[in-house]
Amino acid sequence: MPGEGAEDAEIMFIGEAPGWYEDQQGRPFVGSAGQFLTQLLKSINLEREQVYITNVIKTRPPDNRDPLPQEIANCKPYLEQQISIIKPKMIVTLGRYSMGMFMPGKSISQIHGTAVKKDGIMYFAMYHPAAALHQGSLRGVIQSDMLKIPELLATIHKESENNQAQDPKKEEFQQLKLL
Ligand code: URA
Repeated sequence: MPGEGAEDAEIMFIGEAPGWYEDQQGRPFVGSAGQFLTQLLKSINLEREQVYITNVIKTRPPDNRDPLPQEIANCKPYLEQQISIIKPKMIVTLGRYSMGMFMPGKSISQIHGTAVKKDGIMYFAMYHPAAALHQGSLRGVIQSDMLKIPELLATIHKESENNQAQDPKKEEFQQLKLL
């Protein structure tokens, strides 16, 4: 199950692995965690179709067990290709397995709701939406972390405008486009 969303999405959400419903439908995040993710997106005025949603693991681990290191390694090239095709400006990691791919050695309880920029992509760590279903107290934490995304995206936009303004060739190109 590859994932779904806009080819030119600015934000890519990366979860853990398909569950039973995702496996049945061949679509990511369509079960109860997915419904919560859809609500979270709406809270920042985004529809699912405007972002790209995928998982670290591309097939459902039996009995919903945690992914094995070898499974993560096997699926890594697919995820890397997806990132290089979509070229997101921001990657939101959902849960610790996704976080571990980009921010290894960190603890989600410490870095959720924070962003780090690496190689031109902003990485933002969040708890997995399913965590709120098991531990109600995390619901508000996840909701407020999500609300930080628009401001972070605005800083990315501003930075790229500044970079363009500093590059005279690009500025000339922009002016030509305006003519
Ligand atoms: N949990 C995930 O991590 N991914 C899905 O697609 C569904 C539930």
